[in-house]
Amino acid sequence: MAVKVCKFGGTSMADGNVMSRVRNIIESDKDRKYVVVSAPGKRYSGDVKITDILYQCHREVEERGACGASFELIRNRFNSIVRELNIDFDINSVLDETERRINAEKDEDFTASRGEYLSARVMAEVLGAKFIDAEDVIFFDKNGAYAAAKSDKAINDALRGAEKAVFPGFYGRGYNGKVKTFSRGGSDISGAIVARAVNATVYENWTDVSGFLACDPRIVDSPRRIKALSYKELRELSYMGANVLHSESIFPVRKANIPIHIKNTFRPEDEGTLIQPSVYYTPSGSIVTGIAGKKDFTVIFIEKSLMNYQIGFVRKVLSVLEKYNVPVEHIPSGIDTMSVVIESSALKDGKLELILQGIKEAVAPDVLRVNEDIALIATVGHGMSSSVGTSARLFKAMAEASVNVRMIDQGSSELNIIVGVKNEDCEKCIRAIYREFFGN
Ligand code: ADP
Ligand code: ASP
Ligand code: MG
Repeated sequence: MAVKVCKFGGTSMADGNVMSRVRNIIESDKDRKYVVVSAPGKRYSGDVKITDILYQCHREVEERGACGASFELIRNRFNSIVRELNIDFDINSVLDETERRINAEKDEDFTASRGEYLSARVMAEVLGAKFIDAEDVIFFDKNGAYAAAKSDKAINDALRGAEKAVFPGFYGRGYNGKVKTFSRGGSDISGAIVARAVNATVYENWTDVSGFLACDPRIVDSPRRIKALSYKELRELSYMGANVLHSESIFPVRKANIPIHIKNTFRPEDEGTLIQPSVYYTPSGSIVTGIAGKKDFTVIFIEKSLMNYQIGFVRKVLSVLEKYNVPVEHIPSGIDTMSVVIESSALKDGKLELILQGIKEAVAPDVLRVNEDIALIATVGHGMSSSVGTSARLFKAMAEASVNVRMIDQGSSELNIIVGVKNEDCEKCIRAIYREFFGN
């Protein structure tokens, strides 16, 4: 028997009319049994996501002891959703209780999680399905990672006897017993957790685009749709900024080999994109699968003659970063040079200066230079390793667009080439690479 887990994102929950579409999608296929929802997102460009308003509520609670004007926005939004859906549901009692708890708990994660809580309550009502609160079934361990075995069991226990169920995405219960959220966009992870727990045939991720596109549609006009990609390609692209799917969503489903199907709520008949476990994946034949970019990295460049003969050189540099608890993204290296690429947000509050000082003391480099405001752009595809001249084409395209390359890292997986460029060149560079490999 096929079981589909469907996650609907923020734009699919934006108002009552879109939620009616969601109901039609679910009811059109009896295998769509378990539903995970995000908080209502933007209805039009310039609108504010419910989750962002909730973070504002929390700031009000911190400043004045209780939320005020912001919670009225939440109240109005959910009241109009219920009105548009024309359902008989006393949303105001749920909102009163939510406001009371926000003011009592004074906790950022709890407050932020209420968008998902409220939209799941409404969706369960719309579908006549069981509401299962994520705080009762999704657990984190003491390191803050999701506790798979415990969550799997709790999800299955809660589902016993339920024909259909709705779960709020984005949060679970932390090791300290309190509500804890994933990072932003984390409802994708919740969907994957439920899919894994029920051993779903497929994890359908419903959003506002007709699939995973070869690059960000906000950068290139109507990029080509990727018909199928592997978990590995997904991981590379989503980690590097293709945030149509949270980069951690593959971990829960990977072991169980559950495919992820990206679908468009607004064009449900479109084919979408299938993300397949690497074992089943057959490459499409194209050299490049997709391109993604992410801004705001810092590159520390270190040069020292005969570096390659100095046993422990790299370790000494990295131990400085470890000392300051700073994660490293990439370490491209040459004979006498190495660079360390770090997310700039991890180097705030004087950490960069401390690290540079630490590196000077640890290895006495001949040259120590820092490039801030660097964007990383990943060109990803299984076809890249077997195709001669891919990097030549990539660099030619960048040169023709007058984009200066600050750093190159060809991953050992041979699945990607990552280049570092100035933040301001990021979009231009993505467009140039796209044109080279996909035309126009
Ligand atoms: P949801 O609210 O459904 O979770 P998101 O806003 O998180 O949706 O993700 C969908 C958005 O991701 C799209 O509207 C698109 O603007 C953006 N996006 C960025 N890169 C890509 C890509 N490579 N393919 C498709 N969409 C992308
Ligand atoms: N609502 C949360 C956010 O805006 C989680 C999600 O949409 O997946 O980040
Ligand atoms: Mg999302």
